[in-house]
Amino acid sequence: MDSFVDEVNITVEAGSGGDGAVSFHREKYVAAGGPDGGDGGKGGDIVFLVDDNLNTLIDFRYRRKFKAERGENGQGGRKSGKSAPDLVVRVPRGTVVYDRETGRLLADMSRSEPVIIAKGGRGGRGNAHFATPTRQIPRFSKPGFSGQKYELHLELKLLADVGLVGFPNVGKSTLISVVSAAKPKIANYHFTTLVPNLGVVKVGEGQSFVMADIPGLIEGAADGVGLGHEFLRHVERCRLILHIVDVSGSEGRDPISDFDIINRELESFSEELAAAPQIIAANKCDLAEPAQIERFKKFAESRGLKVFEISAATTSGTKELVDAVYAALRELPPLKVYESEPEPVWEKADAAGAKFTVTVEDGVYFVDADWLEGILRTADMEDYESLQHFQLVLKSSGILAELERRGIKEGDAVSVCGYEFDYVE
Ligand code: GDP
Ligand code: MG
Repeated sequence: MDSFVDEVNITVEAGSGGDGAVSFHREKYVAAGGPDGGDGGKGGDIVFLVDDNLNTLIDFRYRRKFKAERGENGQGGRKSGKSAPDLVVRVPRGTVVYDRETGRLLADMSRSEPVIIAKGGRGGRGNAHFATPTRQIPRFSKPGFSGQKYELHLELKLLADVGLVGFPNVGKSTLISVVSAAKPKIANYHFTTLVPNLGVVKVGEGQSFVMADIPGLIEGAADGVGLGHEFLRHVERCRLILHIVDVSGSEGRDPISDFDIINRELESFSEELAAAPQIIAANKCDLAEPAQIERFKKFAESRGLKVFEISAATTSGTKELVDAVYAALRELPPLKVYESEPEPVWEKADAAGAKFTVTVEDGVYFVDADWLEGILRTADMEDYESLQHFQLVLKSSGILAELERRGIKEGDAVSVCGYEFDYVE
């Protein structure tokens, strides 16, 4: 049987920019016009967007590569190339996006705004930009910048206020089906939910919360083998855990030991999760002997925990449970959204012996280097500190020494990955 897909690796590549054009203005009876090569268009971005019709990452099993188009090349007559359209990748809400290479968290797709995951490259500049009083016939243009490329790791961490936990068959799906409009599969066997079900529980006018019924693991779990940690990821950011036990012991297990096993699982998965507030629902009270209920309640009280007696099947007690959950949520902090970690702008410059090329064309010193391109793309050259860093990079990488070796003088033009500077000694 296929398992629920909540983790996947994919590759995304934004489009590169189109190349700048080399072209000269031509008119009848005019011997030589000026340069009029236009710029290349921008490459398409890779944009992630939340789609609430999705609740697993299964689609990425079948498509793992996403590549946006390249920008068009520039043309004569100062005509810029068209920018390429963005490539929109739809993901379920709560998908957390990591860069596999660095482990950096790029985005938490919890909000509805689209997020640019990989930026398309800028178009190269056409030769129209390179005319100066001393260089009237620039026979060169610049190629487009490459788009960002990432190997990504996606993890689905559902966004629900309340996560249901408990052994298989204790009645989690039944409960969510009676307190919300969600219609999960309810089945009397030990592999039930393969996709998480999110149900909106309405409490009163304009008052509601989201409950998640999570795919449990499965056969071995009932034998105390453990539930496996995979599914716990989904409750990781729930604000409250609703722990369901079958108080009637209808499957021959002891609800007290069930309760402890599940809590041990939570603990071994994450301390934070184990520390999350819990409300306990003793389910299947319609089947249970009063003595069974009393025994479990005594146990819970000895731990200082409150138990709600319910029967999901008959809905008895579920209203009180929902009200109590809602009241508890009002006292708790909002759902956790992970902050994306900023791009380490200068990191790449540390690469000792970072490669670069210097070419001199028409008195302009062109410096090209892949790694430098990334730095320049994110640096703000108006910002003093950025500029200082940039100078340091030029020095430590040996670029300055190479420029000097090639005879650069005060006031000469330097074009670093398409950005122009005047050389200052
Ligand atoms: P889950 O695996 O925890 O999602 O459990 P389900 O909701 O699928 O329920 C497992 C079985 O227990 C189903 O046959 C349900 O009809 C039954 N069940 C759930 N809640 C109750 C209850 O309160 N009383 C009784 N008698 N049966 C229940
Ligand atoms: Mg279920």
